[in-house]
Amino acid sequence: MNALINALHNELQISESSTIIEKLFHIQTQSRVTCCLCKTEDTTDERTTFLPLPLPLPKLHPQQKCLLLEDLLSFFFEEDTLDGDYYCQKFDTMTQAKQKTSLRHPLPRVIIIQLKRFTFDDSNNKIHTFVRYPLQNLNIGKYLAQTSTNDTFYNLIAISVHTGSSQSGGHYTTYAKNNDQSEWYLFNDSFLEPVEKKIQDKQLLTKHAYVLVYQKTEIS
Ligand SMILES: [Zn+2]
Repeated sequence: MNALINALHNELQISESSTIIEKLFHIQTQSRVTCCLCKTEDTTDERTTFLPLPLPLPKLHPQQKCLLLEDLLSFFFEEDTLDGDYYCQKFDTMTQAKQKTSLRHPLPRVIIIQLKRFTFDDSNNKIHTFVRYPLQNLNIGKYLAQTSTNDTFYNLIAISVHTGSSQSGGHYTTYAKNNDQSEWYLFNDSFLEPVEKKIQDKQLLTKHAYVLVYQKTEIS
């Protein structure tokens, strides 16, 4: 999905300065590196098309049966110590540095979140921990570099679901919302079926969720 979005953006950029892909999907971020010795800050503006959120390994956290999406986001945007040494120009010596990623305006209309369920180590195991995510009003305001309370709410519009125990096997399905009718549908290979309204919330909150797609509330 990421490769497709980037390819479309590059193609459209030839004729447009600001592409539809940019407005829809580009998440503007700021990376701030702070020298632990002289406290000098170095900020770099970056962009991404999705947020890959790591999940704690169950073998290290066996008691953790349920995670909150908001906690995974807070962890992702938390300040952390950079791996390896950092060169401090002021004191001309090697030291350590802290790094923090924040979101920047303008926020995209759509935010794609990947729950990193695959470990990509020798075991190639999948992390099955249930992640509870809001169907409505995900507030990403606190992850902004400059605090803002406007336009920071998102509603869920699609869920990519993976069932199976590893990335090399299993099956993908998708739940997607028709915003005009406010109805959810399940896409399963060539089958399409509406999600019953009375069991909708339960069915949409699945432990097999792999990718979550959120849309800004102002246009839903
Ligand atoms: Zn320094």
